[in-house]
Amino acid sequence: MSTSASAGSAAPSPGADTSGSVTDRLVEANQNYAAAFTDPGMDARPVLRVAVVACMDARLDLHAALGLDLGDCHTIRNAGGVVTDDVIRSLTISQRALGTRSIVLIHHTGCGLESLTEEFRHELELEVGQRPTWAVEAFRDVDQDVRQSMQKVRTSPFLLHTDDVRGFVFDVKTGLLREIDAA
Ligand SMILES: [Zn+2]
Repeated sequence: MSTSASAGSAAPSPGADTSGSVTDRLVEANQNYAAAFTDPGMDARPVLRVAVVACMDARLDLHAALGLDLGDCHTIRNAGGVVTDDVIRSLTISQRALGTRSIVLIHHTGCGLESLTEEFRHELELEVGQRPTWAVEAFRDVDQDVRQSMQKVRTSPFLLHTDDVRGFVFDVKTGLLREIDAA
């Protein structure tokens, strides 16, 4: 991942299908999915009453890595899996409106945020003439960032349940989770 605020228009990755847009490909895949789909007859409350907050990283397949099935959990993802105000918003709705009570936080090795700094935000401001309202939330020490995230969740006044909050680092090379002790 480039540290430039304007990295884009990269060459297609090897093996990428160049016919049609990627979205066309997704829509086509969805038609196959729907053809085999049967209504699971569930309501919106997660079966395992758990919300997972994780990085958006493409190498982290949450359902496979955690043995989750359709309907089991809420997944809340962003760059870094950091606990922003918007994550607190989703967790609050998850707990208060949809009955979850456990929270699992997952960061991972080799996160793109480790190679960024708040300078990214400054460069962006110089480029577009407007200062983003959000922080980049870059970090250097993934364990420490997981601890900080756990602390943010545990001290949120909006959540109903903060007694079962656990944090992990997912190793993208081994597929294993490593639990982080709260500070
Ligand atoms: Zn990441």
